[in-house]
Amino acid sequence: MFCKYCGKMLPEGADICPNCGKAQSESPVQIVQRQDVADPSDRPSFGYAFLGFLLPVIGLILYLVWKDDTPLRARSCGRGAAVGFVIYFLLVLVCIILVICGLFAFSEAMREGTRMAFSALSFMGV
Ligand SMILES: [Zn+2]
Repeated sequence: MFCKYCGKMLPEGADICPNCGKAQSESPVQIVQRQDVADPSDRPSFGYAFLGFLLPVIGLILYLVWKDDTPLRARSCGRGAAVGFVIYFLLVLVCIILVICGLFAFSEAMREGTRMAFSALSFMGV
């Protein structure tokens, strides 16, 4: 094995290069320490996911604000907001379809009613 930085041959299993002193790999201990340094409040949150679901715009804003500092919590918000957006979009779509159907049915009924009123009037000789 050779040093990643200076290219000198390393002793078997060496983590630190004896020539340049650079660490060759991150040991598991270092990785764990790095996670501990991260914001302890950063964890996936069902509460914020639910908030994002109920208020997708708020969820999206929280996601954008938090995505650098607390990415896990931000992702909860973002995911809730995404699901919320899809569901609200479908609801709005269904409402629009219902309104259009309702308008068609209403205009059909009006036309039918007008036609019947005219035929009734002509039947009475008016
Ligand atoms: Zn080296």
